[in-house]
Amino acid sequence: MNMKNAVRMAEEIRNRKLSVRELLDKTFENTDERESELNCYITLDRDAAYRAAAEVQRRIDAGEEAGALAGVPVAVKDNLCTKGMRTTCGSKMLADWIAPYDAAVVERIKSAGAIVIGKTNMDEFAFGSGSDTSCFGAVRNPRDRERSAGGSSGGSAAAVAAGEALVALGTDTGGSVRLPASHCGIVGIKPTYGRASRYGLIAYASSFDQAGVLAADVESAAAALELICSYDRRDATSVSCNESFETDTADIRGMRVGLCEDVLAGCNDEVAAAVRKAAAVFEDAGAHVEAVSLRNREYELPAYYALVTAEASSNLERYDGVKYGYRAAEYKDLEEMYVKSRTEGFGSEVKRRIMLGSYVLSAGYYDDIYLRAMKVRRLISGEYDELFGKMDALIGPVSPETAPLLSDSYKDPVKEWMKDLCTVAANLGGYPAMSLPCGTDGKGLPIGLHIMSGRFREAVMLKLARAFEEMR
Ligand code: GLN
Repeated sequence: MNMKNAVRMAEEIRNRKLSVRELLDKTFENTDERESELNCYITLDRDAAYRAAAEVQRRIDAGEEAGALAGVPVAVKDNLCTKGMRTTCGSKMLADWIAPYDAAVVERIKSAGAIVIGKTNMDEFAFGSGSDTSCFGAVRNPRDRERSAGGSSGGSAAAVAAGEALVALGTDTGGSVRLPASHCGIVGIKPTYGRASRYGLIAYASSFDQAGVLAADVESAAAALELICSYDRRDATSVSCNESFETDTADIRGMRVGLCEDVLAGCNDEVAAAVRKAAAVFEDAGAHVEAVSLRNREYELPAYYALVTAEASSNLERYDGVKYGYRAAEYKDLEEMYVKSRTEGFGSEVKRRIMLGSYVLSAGYYDDIYLRAMKVRRLISGEYDELFGKMDALIGPVSPETAPLLSDSYKDPVKEWMKDLCTVAANLGGYPAMSLPCGTDGKGLPIGLHIMSGRFREAVMLKLARAFEEMR
């Protein structure tokens, strides 16, 4: 039995060939065996999981509608609020914080019968690409424990890759679902901005943030994606859109696919070769693949980091030791309480970003940096919009290299930021994008193929992904 395909497992459970408890036991066997080394989870809640499992089983036994993911063990990134289970964002600032409500996407998966088993480790406040800035320690890559799982949703990706969950929720502000999916050899999808509600997603950069899904295969990821995407009046940027993600066939004949040549030039040879091989697979299946290069590519990362740090510095103002979160033990007045709480509660990458963002938004530099970056953002997405008018999708690498050694992380922060080169465009323009395993390098480390399509065209992207998965 393929224990990794969530859709098949849910079917087995609905048909009562497998009990919810059996699948949960199997998952917890994997956590018992691997968790102490991998550090995928910040919180695991077995009691809550078994209670939820009993309720789902009761519904199935009673012949009631149990939902599309009935009985599937799901891991949730620790920046998505969960009622009654702490939500830490990987930070000392929120280490004991328990949300009074579930995030919209958590509500959605729970009502589809999924069993939330725990909260996954992540870069502090989702700032990072290696899941190594968490105050709970780094996540280790199940393929090679000396290496990073990618970030910031690294705990979610590693949990799925190690069988410590069948599906995981993550969030993606500049690549945080896709990069760890790529480094761990699984599928990760970020939908169009506005498709999944941000209600209860702890904000990093609100105009970029979007929840996403991670699973072992395209079918399972697509099923979870369909579940989390729905209109929600509690999020002012939520979009009502009934376009289905269903793709009845994987027939991609005649589809037009752009291959991002400009990015390939900067990639490690093995990554570039795997992506070119994937392009050849699409051509063999009847798609037209043509090379594209983008005029504004070099401005993507600078615009991204100017804008996300600005938004982050403003979003993180709320952690002041007053309303919730960490408060310093000793202080002599209000001012010192703010300063000490933030100094002690935040890690160094968070402080770096708050300082940078405050600078970007400061009176003297606002026009020069923030406004200019906003204009560049528009310019960049204009170019992609034009491309998506002519093409169904763009393909390229998710990352210029495979999973790096943990011992190399954060030697140089700017080098860390360069890791997002291939993924930030999707968030600058709000496009759907995904990572799909497309090979391994000489060390056996997974390589991810990036597929991105026009806004609300998830179905097109998924069709290519399905075709690719079937043909390999
Ligand atoms: N690595 C990117 C950053 O640090 C993306 C993070 C994310 O998508 N949450 O901003």
